[in-house]
Amino acid sequence: MKIMVSACLTGENCKYNGGNNRNNKILRLLEGNQVIPVCPEQMGGLPTPRVPSEIRNGTVMAKDGRNVDSEFRTGAAKCLEIARHEQPDLVVLQSRSPSCGVKQRYDGTFSGTLIRGAGVTAQLLMENGFQAVDAEDLLVTDRLLLRKWAERDAKDLYRYASDPEVGLIAGWPPHSSVNESLDVIRNILNGAETYAVCLKTDGRAIGAIGLKLEESTGIAAGREDTCELGYWLGKPFWSRGIMTEAVREMIRHGFEDLGMRTIWCEYYEGNIRSRRVQEKCGFHYQKTIREADVPLLHEKRTVYVNSLNRAEYQERKDELSC
Ligand code: SF4
Repeated sequence: MKIMVSACLTGENCKYNGGNNRNNKILRLLEGNQVIPVCPEQMGGLPTPRVPSEIRNGTVMAKDGRNVDSEFRTGAAKCLEIARHEQPDLVVLQSRSPSCGVKQRYDGTFSGTLIRGAGVTAQLLMENGFQAVDAEDLLVTDRLLLRKWAERDAKDLYRYASDPEVGLIAGWPPHSSVNESLDVIRNILNGAETYAVCLKTDGRAIGAIGLKLEESTGIAAGREDTCELGYWLGKPFWSRGIMTEAVREMIRHGFEDLGMRTIWCEYYEGNIRSRRVQEKCGFHYQKTIREADVPLLHEKRTVYVNSLNRAEYQERKDELSC
């Protein structure tokens, strides 16, 4: 996979204060992949160290009152030129930067206030069709990248989700067209903690995993520190320990990054693969629900409900980590 990345994430001292944002998770992702490091602020002609800047009313201003908009936009244009030439599969950028931030940036008052919105370079790359993600939105394991779903994943989703062996056992009907898969990406796989499971080598979606937070789940309802784990994997990738690896990372993310107290997980009677994944990842039996509705298939099944709590996770952390 070809990855364009904010240079400061790789350890390059290009940050405004002369330091860097070295990120071991991102370095783990870059291993074995083709890497294109860029620092748009340096590429726009700004020195390092430099006065920090923020975007105010659409214009980039340095903290000392200088207008640095033109330097920022020059750097962004140079990054776009490189991206067009190199065609990266993924662009991983430093969160919250006025150049590189994808989801959020500071509001221009230099008061530490965050607002929704992208930095100048991230915005330009996304407007031109490149898949840019904040570094903090990626999860990485030895073999896997867990990232947000994008519309361009529709064909890959259809390839695996159209197989009846994948969906029926998990309670949903096989997809019948790429358009249906696109619709699912837009309306179902768009949750805050829903990820495409990808191999690190090519970044293409082969399955899905997610934590349903309190409002959206039946068994974990009522508390903000409990959630429900769900997952499925394309058939060609079964029996390789891939989903176990992804689930272990989601468990870590749930307890360590999101502060969950309990993670629930369930499987339908007969779904032996899913049961094994849950057992290998430390979940244990809580209850059986007979005659449970399977709404998407208009039928009833027996559901086995498991859970893992934070204390149990802490106790077995070394064993459960990937
Ligand atoms: S412009 Fe981007 S790559 Fe350069 S230091 Fe800022 S966040 Fe890092």
